[in-house]
Amino acid sequence: MPEKQALSAPQKALHKLGLTRDIDLALHLPLRWEDETRVLRLADAREGESVQIEAEVTACEIAYRPRRQLVVTVEDGSGSCQMRFFSFYPSQQKALAVGTRHRFRGELRGGFLGWQMVHPVVKPAGAALPTALTPVYPTVATLPQAYLRKAVLSGLARADLSDTFPPGVSETLQPQVWGLREALAFLHHPTPDVALAALEDRSHPAWQRLKAEELLAQQLSQLESKRERDALRSPALATRRGGLQETLLAQLPFALTGAQRRVVEEIARDLAREVPMHRLLQGDVGSGKTVVAALAAAVAIDAGWQCALMAPTEILAEQHFRKLIGWLEPLLAPLGRRVAWLTGSQKKKERGEMLALVESGEAALVVGTHAVIQDQVQFKALALAVIDEQHRFGVAQRLALRAKMKDTAQEPHLLMMSATPIPRTLAMSYYADLDVSTIDELPPGRTPIVTRLVADSRREQLIERIRSQLAEGRQVYWVCPLIEESEALDLSNATQTHQDLSEALPGVMVGLLHSRMPPAEKKAVMALFSGGQMGVLVSTTVIEVGVDVPNASLMVIEHAERFGLSQLHQLRGRVGRGAAASACVLVFSPNENGRVSETAKARLKAMAETNDGFEIARRDLEIRGPGEFLGARQSGAPLLRFADLEADADLLAWARALAPLMLDRHPALARRHVERWLGGKSEFLKA
Ligand code: ADP
Ligand code: MG
Repeated sequence: MPEKQALSAPQKALHKLGLTRDIDLALHLPLRWEDETRVLRLADAREGESVQIEAEVTACEIAYRPRRQLVVTVEDGSGSCQMRFFSFYPSQQKALAVGTRHRFRGELRGGFLGWQMVHPVVKPAGAALPTALTPVYPTVATLPQAYLRKAVLSGLARADLSDTFPPGVSETLQPQVWGLREALAFLHHPTPDVALAALEDRSHPAWQRLKAEELLAQQLSQLESKRERDALRSPALATRRGGLQETLLAQLPFALTGAQRRVVEEIARDLAREVPMHRLLQGDVGSGKTVVAALAAAVAIDAGWQCALMAPTEILAEQHFRKLIGWLEPLLAPLGRRVAWLTGSQKKKERGEMLALVESGEAALVVGTHAVIQDQVQFKALALAVIDEQHRFGVAQRLALRAKMKDTAQEPHLLMMSATPIPRTLAMSYYADLDVSTIDELPPGRTPIVTRLVADSRREQLIERIRSQLAEGRQVYWVCPLIEESEALDLSNATQTHQDLSEALPGVMVGLLHSRMPPAEKKAVMALFSGGQMGVLVSTTVIEVGVDVPNASLMVIEHAERFGLSQLHQLRGRVGRGAAASACVLVFSPNENGRVSETAKARLKAMAETNDGFEIARRDLEIRGPGEFLGARQSGAPLLRFADLEADADLLAWARALAPLMLDRHPALARRHVERWLGGKSEFLKA
């Protein structure tokens, strides 16, 4: 057997960057370009410009102020410049001896002592000048530019770059774009006469071609997975007149809002079809998504099937369980069916009983955490899977839940819920394969939450405010931040705050909740808080999602500058759930330099300015960009590298319109196009 050759560090890095095929290399485009085609005279140079000069060394010495450095003075006949090297080898010092000539490239700074360059690139004088701009590629430390440039060049030479746009299609693009081959050749090695601005802001027709290609690949793969899904089958679940859903509606202690009624109907229409539902239910925190899930479950149960509801945390699952038992069990009991409960922390005996209920089908509804998707869990007849806070789950988990249908020729209907709305542009492009229902109205009687920013130095006043809330019979959350590097530190922060507040509020029950507590203790603490005996709950972010205690009216978030925007919004959503006026106080602590970072400021400002989850999501997208927004790793969706959804909305619309025509009339081209752009990655989109 031939010995398997070990990969070198740069080869490994290439793989890690996903640059495995020739075409991947050809599509790995420069971040920027350097102009090494010209040698400039110092007299013609401008401050801040990246230039290349050729000059003679007139002095070379080691200086010690402010720190050890090699200072080389050069003259090019039109002016002089000082080169500073903070790290250098003796051999470099020797090479830069007085009287030698070199080519220097770097950014020119006008200092107190005339022109300066820090760490210029040094090359022999008189060497031939390149005729094209030099590409600078995105890379990692173990993959040097020079190696990558060579790899890209040979990838570009070998790759199949034949056109995959159907005949006549490029002409439909306005303004005109280039052919793929020309566009790539140009972007990798642009001629020096091009306006760098058009290259850098990606408005050049060569860039337009790549963006159009990329968006088309994405739209095609989305459409393909939608069509694949449409070929799958699910049980058709009709909503009966006088059935379980109607009974449940009649027994609820409140009337649905208009928005809730609308989404319940949208879901009912999906369930009645034989095609699996693939719907995202989005609605701001507190908009009442749980009851919508219960009403959907009622339809499935009424038709004799089972429903599963999966939530990301035990606290949340437990809360759903209680609520759903309250709503559904009175209706299920006469039918001899039940609500089952599955979590990781469950006792073996209880778990065994629950598993039996699920397997026999006696459990009409199964509520739980990730435990629901474990192998031992066998459903008798799962027809509807509901995933709460879906963005907390990964692709694999969603797939596992879908695979829980016993009849492998069928799929359960899938309802995903989220309080983090997907901005419209993202929905259009990444989730073309997803139907979206939106609850855009809060239940009546809620007063808007007032949000205030408070510096940490004003803690005393804050405690006064807590006292007055407690005096009115209200309850208070106090959230401490998650410090990612250290769970221990995190804990000590929360523990300390807990102690401080207990002392400051004698006679008030102050509780503590954090992720490392045993589940039974968490449960007990939550029970005391939701029962109203506990006045203040100090917690880490475990309460972030879904917790529902309507009597809580004040949310204090400590070190608010450390939280993400959607997380802050989720946390704030824990209050304002009853009729009482509620407030959220964001306590921020400037760093050692007395500052708060710009992005943190932007987040806090957004929080203070709006309560609207959609507006928050929009601002979040603006602050973080789509990459972080989607959580690339989690969603598995390959992100757009070149196109920008907002700026390239026209190209996106073009790709959306072309995708179905291309799949129908030019399926072979479509396949080649998706393969070229997404390779093996398109599978991910299907979850
Ligand atoms: P979320 O959408 O954040 O999951 P929940 O489903 O937890 O919100 O609902 C928030 C609270 O509002 C719950 O106490 C729920 O029972 C209540 N609720 C839901 N719908 C209505 C309604 N139409 N009228 C009054 N209260 C409602
Ligand atoms: Mg919820």
